[in-house]
Amino acid sequence: MERKGSEGEQFFIDYVRRGTTTFFGAPSVDLADPDALKDRRAVFLGVPYDGGTSQYSGARYAPHSVRAASIFAVKGEGMPWLLGGQAVDGGNLAAPMRDPAQMREVVEQGIATVLAAEGRPFIVGGNHSVTLPVLRALKRKLGPIAVVHVDAHPDTARGAEFFCADDYHHGAPLRHALEEGLIAPGQLHQIGIRVGHDEELAKKHGVVVYDMTEVQDRGIPIIMARVRAAVGSLPTYLTFDIDAVDPAFAPGTGTPACGGLTSREALRLVRSLKGMRLCGMDVVEVLPALDHADLTSLLAASLLMEGLCVVA
Ligand code: MN
Ligand code: MN
Repeated sequence: MERKGSEGEQFFIDYVRRGTTTFFGAPSVDLADPDALKDRRAVFLGVPYDGGTSQYSGARYAPHSVRAASIFAVKGEGMPWLLGGQAVDGGNLAAPMRDPAQMREVVEQGIATVLAAEGRPFIVGGNHSVTLPVLRALKRKLGPIAVVHVDAHPDTARGAEFFCADDYHHGAPLRHALEEGLIAPGQLHQIGIRVGHDEELAKKHGVVVYDMTEVQDRGIPIIMARVRAAVGSLPTYLTFDIDAVDPAFAPGTGTPACGGLTSREALRLVRSLKGMRLCGMDVVEVLPALDHADLTSLLAASLLMEGLCVVA
């Protein structure tokens, strides 16, 4: 459709006419088409998967609701890449609902396709189990990288096969990533943790933990300055579990934990990645059925938009 009027206005008009939207109104591409990813630098993807969830399920509906909210989160700095086709919507990486092994295969392959074309994946889960295959694909392309992990939970749990057909449920992706050597030594930076913490594992792998008390005491700017200094020029992946944000700001999530980040702090955190080599990001654990007034979906979309502004 031809775009007329002011750019921002036209995005909104397209949405009203169609009644639906891609992420941020970005051009839609088919990952199966070998030429589709040529000169694309940011590829938005949904992973509608929530097998292996411990509490409330339903995060598989997030790609739909975050796409719908994203049209209200477009910012001027991201506009050139949206209009120029450097940022595109690659659709969803869809896997059978309760087949975690199949999901990991589909996601790793889809992300590998994006990385092979020198694109950066911007992903909406699904629950947090979708992040492990993303990190596997990144390791194959870039070697061990730095990971900034924002979450109420450390996601380094053991066992819990009760939730899942295997050990790869949504509370374990970072433990697997550490044990598989996907993250460079001392380059897992966890922010916002307030529920449980595996001190032994953190010590063994040199995990840097900024728990919520530390966030309150020092503030995001100081913490992120430390993260930037520690990471240096390493490629960095951001994995953002929306439950890091306080349920007052992000009620739509499956394992809520009180006493979290404000949405303002969350946005500031992503914005603080500017100057780092951001090789991709995800926002996971948005559960639209428990949301109010689309607050959580809008925040998730806004975090992705900040990430796009960081790289664009
Ligand atoms: Mn998590
Ligand atoms: Mn969490």
